[in-house]
Amino acid sequence: MNTPVVLPELSRHFLEMEEKYGAHNYHPIPVVLDRGENVFVWDVEGKKYFDFLSGYSAVNQGHCHPVILQSFLEQAQKLTLTSRAFHSDLLGEYTRYITAYFGYDKVLPMNTGVEAVETALKLCRKWAYEVKGLEDGKAVIVVCKGNFHGRTSTVISFSSDPSARNHFGPYMPGFTPVPYNDLPALQQALADKNVAGFLVEPIQGEAGVVVPDEGYLRKAKELCETSNVLFIADEIQTGLARTGKMLACDHEEVRPDILILGKALSGGFMPVSAVLADDPVMLTIKPGEHGSTYGGNPLACRVAMTSLQVLKDEKMAENAADRGKQLRDGLRNLSSPHISIVRGKGLLNAIVIQHKNPEAAWDLCLALKENGLLAKPTHGDKIRFAPPLVITAEQMDEAIDIIRDSLRVLD
Ligand code: PLP
Repeated sequence: MNTPVVLPELSRHFLEMEEKYGAHNYHPIPVVLDRGENVFVWDVEGKKYFDFLSGYSAVNQGHCHPVILQSFLEQAQKLTLTSRAFHSDLLGEYTRYITAYFGYDKVLPMNTGVEAVETALKLCRKWAYEVKGLEDGKAVIVVCKGNFHGRTSTVISFSSDPSARNHFGPYMPGFTPVPYNDLPALQQALADKNVAGFLVEPIQGEAGVVVPDEGYLRKAKELCETSNVLFIADEIQTGLARTGKMLACDHEEVRPDILILGKALSGGFMPVSAVLADDPVMLTIKPGEHGSTYGGNPLACRVAMTSLQVLKDEKMAENAADRGKQLRDGLRNLSSPHISIVRGKGLLNAIVIQHKNPEAAWDLCLALKENGLLAKPTHGDKIRFAPPLVITAEQMDEAIDIIRDSLRVLD
């Protein structure tokens, strides 16, 4: 079991309440937060931490970004929800804004990330039957082993993580998994004439920031084009400046046929996700065939526009590229015997811990917390380092010092 942690009384109070009345579907680091600003969060005892998770990349713009906050407050006092039974003055403006921003004909607005993934899968199947001409019910979507696309029963049907799948069956058919970063395997899977789409994370985030070989995405896109198969990029975690470009696919100048966005589309203010595609794909879905009560609500439209605007105005992609390099160089220069791999792109990074104790990554995260930096292990031995994209060079140096000092706990 994990090393026991002694918590201050106030933190313990909140944590125990959560434990007693909340479902036990997460295993958080034992810290109770009540405030955030920029790259920092504070716990209920007033202790300050660097946030090196950024809400799994939902808070790329930094906590409570003042410009996003202002637009959130102004819109929340005016109109928050109409449902799609009626029009709002902001849906048209938002759809024009985001389609111009990413260069697509149309957008379909949703809320959480997994809903956007579901939307993309439905769009892909509809296109396969109505445009590509596949026999109804036969469409196959190729996915990657080690993927993480969310938690609905369809999406976990093609997960390779036993904890995501076990005892949640029966599973949705119609998905063919191939190893990630394996072009021959993809090519072989695409030989099936019923393949409609290829769903891929440009970097596998939850798997521990697995960066594919250079050229993988470009070549995969070419293979999809040759087979008349839609290339569907899940950029929910990798997009919106996180990897040093607006989209991770931009590193290889790949334009997905279906682009899925979420998380930082609202800078952490509310669940906002989106699916972008051109008319031949998007217009296959007709009125009444898909939707969501909250999808495209005026508050979300306003917040999403502002969240996208500040990414550009504050050059966050450029900062992510520079600070990411600083972080990886800094971590490699530590020459720690406990770090076997440092990898990532921009500010989406991970270290792989090597240690005889299987709980070493967890123990390191507890030491990091004691020293003022919050991070969380993924898949046992990996720790993701993904701070908000507004982090400065001085702050990054300070964070690297904290990581260096904390690694001593593993000596
Ligand atoms: N897709 C990717 C790549 C993700 O990283 C996540 C969440 O971590 C999701 C989908 C699911 O997003 P949500 O938790 O908002 O449903």
